[in-house]
Parts: sequence; C-alpha cells; structure tokens
Amino acid sequence: MKNSRADLPSESLTPPVLPTYARADLAVARGEGPYLFDESGRRYLDFVAGVAVNCLGHCHPALVSALETQARALWHTSNLFRIPGQEKLAERLTELTFADTMFFTNSGAEAIECAIKMARKFQSHNNRPERFRLITFEAAFHGRTLATIAASGQEKMLKGFGPKVDGFDQVAFGDLAAAEAAITPETAGFLIEPVQGEGGIRAATPEFLRGLRALADQHNLVLIFDEIQCGMGRTGKLFAHEWAGVTPDIMAVAKGIGGGFPLGACLATAEAAAGMTAGTHGSTYGGNPLAMAVGNAVLEVVAGPGFLDHVVEIGDYLGAALTDLAARHPDIFADARGQGLIRGLKLKTDLPAFIVAARGQGLLLAAAGDNVVRLLPPLIIERAHVDEAIALLDATAKAVAAEAA
Ligand SMILES: *Cc1c(COP(=O)(O)O)cnc(C)c1O
Repeated sequence: MKNSRADLPSESLTPPVLPTYARADLAVARGEGPYLFDESGRRYLDFVAGVAVNCLGHCHPALVSALETQARALWHTSNLFRIPGQEKLAERLTELTFADTMFFTNSGAEAIECAIKMARKFQSHNNRPERFRLITFEAAFHGRTLATIAASGQEKMLKGFGPKVDGFDQVAFGDLAAAEAAITPETAGFLIEPVQGEGGIRAATPEFLRGLRALADQHNLVLIFDEIQCGMGRTGKLFAHEWAGVTPDIMAVAKGIGGGFPLGACLATAEAAAGMTAGTHGSTYGGNPLAMAVGNAVLEVVAGPGFLDHVVEIGDYLGAALTDLAARHPDIFADARGQGLIRGLKLKTDLPAFIVAARGQGLLLAAAGDNVVRLLPPLIIERAHVDEAIALLDATAKAVAAEAA
C-alpha cells in the first residue's frame, strides 16, 4: 500500500530512497583530492574513496577536463555504432594485461555477470555444455544481482531472495585441496578475488592462486579473477594477480577503472571469449562515450610513469604505520592486514562504533567482514595524508578505549 503521508507519523513512512543502506548521517557537498566536505564545510580525510572507486581522489583535474570536453562532443550512442573511446581503452588494456578482448559494463556486478556467462559459453562452445558450475570461495563478494549473490554465497545477501541461482559451489578461501575436491563433471571454472575486499581484506597467497591456475589447466576449467576492488593499481601493480605471477582466463574490473564514473569491464583471453559472438551479450549504456573519456583519462594516469611505484611506496609506509598503531593499542586492534592501499585493521571492539568515532575525528572509513575496518584511500595520497590518518586513528582508538573503561 502506498504511504498516506497525511495520516502516518513521519517515522513510520517508507523513505523516498529505499533504505537498503544503513547510511552515515553525513551529507557530502564537495570533494577535493583525498578530502570531502560536508554541507557545513567540515573537512574529512576520505579513506573510503567511494569504496575504492575514486582512485585519483575527488575532482582530479585530468578527469574533470576529460569529462567536460566529452560532454560537449557526445554523450551516448548505444553499442549499435563504433565507439572510438572503447577501442582506445580496450587496446590499451590488452597491451597492459593478459587479455585479448573485453566487454564494457556500467558496474562490477555486470562485469561478473559477463564473466559467468562467458565461462558457461566457453564450455558449451567447446562441446562441454554440461559444465556450467563455478567454484567460489567463502566470504566472497561479487555483487548484488541474482547470479552474483549466488556466487557470493553469503546467507545475509541471499535470505528472502530465493530460489538461489543454481551453479555455484563454495569452498573455504585458501583451501586448495577443498577446491580440487569440489571439481565435478559439471564444473566450468573458479571465481575468486585475489584480495577479498568486503570479506575483510583477505589476500590469497601466491601459492593458492598458482594452485588454482594449475587445477584449471589440468581440468579444462576457466580461472576467473574478480579484481573489481583490488585491481586498477590498488595493490601497487595494475592488477593484484600480477604479484603471484599467474594470469586468469577472464577478469572482472570496475570501481577504480572509472575513477568515479560508473564503469566496469570483463577482460578475457581470445580462447575464453571465443563463443561470445554477435548477439550473445549486450548493454545499452556499457562503455558509452562519457564513461570511455573518463576511463581513458584514469588509465593514462594510473599506467603512467611512476604512478604504481608511488602506490607501492606509500602503501608500504601506510602498512608499517598501521602495524605500529595496532601494536600501540593491543586492546583495540587484533591485527593490521592488506597490501598497497587496500588495508584493514581487525578490531577487538565494536566495528560500527569505531567507524562512527573515526568520523567524529574527521576520518572516513568503511566496514568489512571479519570485524575489519577497511582503509581504501585514493591512490594519490602522500605521506602527510598517511600521517594525518594515523593521528586520527590513534585519537579514535584512545576515544574508543576511554568509552570502554
Ligand atoms: C564492489 C564489488 C563488486 C560489485 O560491484 P558493483 O559495481 O557494486 O556492482 C563485485 N566484486 C567485488 C570484489 C567488489 O568489490
């Protein structure tokens, strides 16, 4: 029944924006580099960065200029016509990665959907249509569509949305023997985040990723990496799997690739993508000229000289400072974890309360699974921003400890 606003007390009205997020009461007015400003002008150091999206910070001049220029030339044409910006970005990404080809989307979940469809198509195209199942890993997060919640396999995301889409079998993260044991005649491949983001900043070991690669090769399975959060420079390599020296057959990318403009991509080898012929997949908006203008501008910076070296250097600096911070407050922090500029602090205290306290100090943080606070600063931060964040975290830890005493 529709709200009848006149008869109901205001607190029982369904808000005009569906309340699926427990949002912070912070109305952001403006952003500049690694800082956000609320409507009253208060400044916050942003270590959320739109959940690893604003890799170049807020309103980076190169992105503003690319978007403004494109907005005056052409916004949208659909994929019925050639989009030169797509060809440029795809060529550049194929030069820089394992991939031969890619499909552009508007979001991460759509990139994963494309990856799932491609894995199934690869098997059926190779006369193995019975192979449609993917092996996924505990605490995974692959998106919020019907197929991607099934792939994620988390009860809290699936509850009430049944029946669950068939075709996903989950095993413990890091357990190679379990992954091997889960292979059946219906298995099409593996789907894994090289560094789990929402799951609590949990990095797969290089040995584990190499083990999955070997199993995939041995059994004619596809290896799919979800680098939506950990990719696009966040670990200090363009993609996180590069640290392990293995390549996937298919990879989903989003978040940082658009720097704040909705953009995703499903990258693949020619072999994995061979069945994806005209008419098999599509998107009205995917890779539209506005998204491509920004995506090309982002990649130019991230793949430009010295940028990833900076991420490694500043990431090491942040990592050491977090380890030190955790040691100074053993009653608050259980450990410091992560790589590059995808970092986590596992708490011994209440997670939402810590995040609210940090916001009170002027530092924005995100929650993750495993009682971990996530730190996902823009990749452009300098040592001074790290020092500022550590001072604010230190003050937060003291405030939380005082509250508990
Ligand atoms: C954010 C995320 C997704 C989903 O991306 P959306 O753009 O929200 O659809 C999928 N996988 C991982 C690892 C993510 O971090």
